[in-house]
Amino acid sequence: MSNLEVEPQEIVCEADSSALSGVEILEPRLVPLGGPRAMTVRRTLPQRGRSLVGAWCFADHYGPDDVAATGGMDVPPHPHTGLQTVSWLFAGEIEHRDSTGAHAIVRPGELNLMTAGRGIQHSEVSMPDTSTLHGVQLWTALPESARNGAPFFERFVPEVYDHEGARVSVFLGSLLGRSSKASAFTPIVGAQLDLPAGTRIQIPVETSFEHGLLVDSGTAFLDGALVPVGSIGYRAPGVDRIELSAGSEPVRAVLIGGEPFPEAIVMWWNFVGRSHDEIVASRSRWMSEVIEDGDPAGLFGEVNGYDGSALRAPELPLGRLRPRGQPGV
Ligand code: MN
Repeated sequence: MSNLEVEPQEIVCEADSSALSGVEILEPRLVPLGGPRAMTVRRTLPQRGRSLVGAWCFADHYGPDDVAATGGMDVPPHPHTGLQTVSWLFAGEIEHRDSTGAHAIVRPGELNLMTAGRGIQHSEVSMPDTSTLHGVQLWTALPESARNGAPFFERFVPEVYDHEGARVSVFLGSLLGRSSKASAFTPIVGAQLDLPAGTRIQIPVETSFEHGLLVDSGTAFLDGALVPVGSIGYRAPGVDRIELSAGSEPVRAVLIGGEPFPEAIVMWWNFVGRSHDEIVASRSRWMSEVIEDGDPAGLFGEVNGYDGSALRAPELPLGRLRPRGQPGV
């Protein structure tokens, strides 16, 4: 997925004292993906007051979306640097093409993970026979040690297992003694949790991790706090377990977490870097090498098989982009 906001706003992170105790609710904002009949996503990360949960730096939740009414997803080739895109669906199928040559169909319950490293481009289009599109797209920020590496794409289908009556799929990192085989570069967790109505479960967690519960459906409680559908319930580090419960309806949610990301990042459009000048350089290379020259030998390579033009980068905001990080880090 691309950040298709016409004027992507820089969001300055501010410390929030409510994060020091209990559960903090991060509410989504609605963002149209672009086009005359665009589908709209609910974006919870980044937002004012919280840019990251562990290395997770971006969270879009969408659907169930009636493709006949909205046109579904059609995101032309666009770049990424310094991050991983994590595509995780509940319903529907998306065709992925990228400049490593990867061509994959993203299906429910199957992780599609694209590690951008120093630079990649990709397109994402819902499949013609998809009538309902429903899922999340998440990004992780790559640490300094991994962010300049070569791009690559991988798929991983996690086992679904039972935990106290809930179904759990760990698609990235580790949880409950289970680990994903997909590449992770920081201590992290990403998992789907399905709770039958009326159930309550305890999940032992790493005390050094912070966590966010992104609720897709049902009446979900995180450590007793109601987390509305589309919102993230945030839990700071320092606890060795979290409690989830479902009200009168089953709950489906995605748990993200990890050690607080130790590096300040500069995030703008589809780039994660470390400085204003680096972002300017990434934008410049995208515009000159891809949009103007169509040079397949450039940093972002080329995407084969997409019917249409690559996305132009938005104009940079006035002033310098400032780094963001954890409150207090
Ligand atoms: Mn993308």
